[in-house]
Amino acid sequence: MDPESINIILVTHLHMDHVSDLLPFMKLRALSSRKLFRVFGPRGVNEMLDLLVSDRRLFGYLSDLGCRDLVEIHEVWDDVLELEPSIILRSKPVEHFNGVAYRIDLPSISITYSGDTAPDPRLIELARGTGILIHECSFPADRLKGKHTSAEDLMRIASEICPKILILTHIYPEMEERLQEYLESFREKLGVMVYAPRDFDVIEV
Ligand SMILES: [Zn+2]
Ligand SMILES: [Zn+2]
Repeated sequence: MDPESINIILVTHLHMDHVSDLLPFMKLRALSSRKLFRVFGPRGVNEMLDLLVSDRRLFGYLSDLGCRDLVEIHEVWDDVLELEPSIILRSKPVEHFNGVAYRIDLPSISITYSGDTAPDPRLIELARGTGILIHECSFPADRLKGKHTSAEDLMRIASEICPKILILTHIYPEMEERLQEYLESFREKLGVMVYAPRDFDVIEV
């Protein structure tokens, strides 16, 4: 994807694997088109970015490039926002370190992204009726660690939400080992399209 085509970034929470590309992206944009972009994220995302790009012991040199001026930050929690006419963004807090999940409703399709979360009824409520469910599937149940969702939990969650397409993300090595077996089981039990894409894969809908 051409980075210049990105105008909106949704941050689910402030863990490293979910925010570490933000600063390189800000720098890239500052050195190229200098087009403004919007970042939506949970409480604290504003303070985190301000600190990172202003403290000289961290990445304060990015302020010299005017990086911070290119970003419009919106902190969200339990919100409904109109991003553009007929594009609605909903956020809900979920069970994972001050994290939020997102749902985007477009005229033709809706997409829900769990971010990281333990099984959470608020996510199920947010996602009900969604066309595409992108949900973390970190571990098999017998190897589950931390505030995450196991494949077995996701089977139950997805069967309540009934998306047309289910996309598994946030796959830990323990899950990777058994991924094919789980994908087959998801497809068979849910009867929907199920994918576990790699970086840069494109899924046409
Ligand atoms: Zn996390
Ligand atoms: Zn994560």
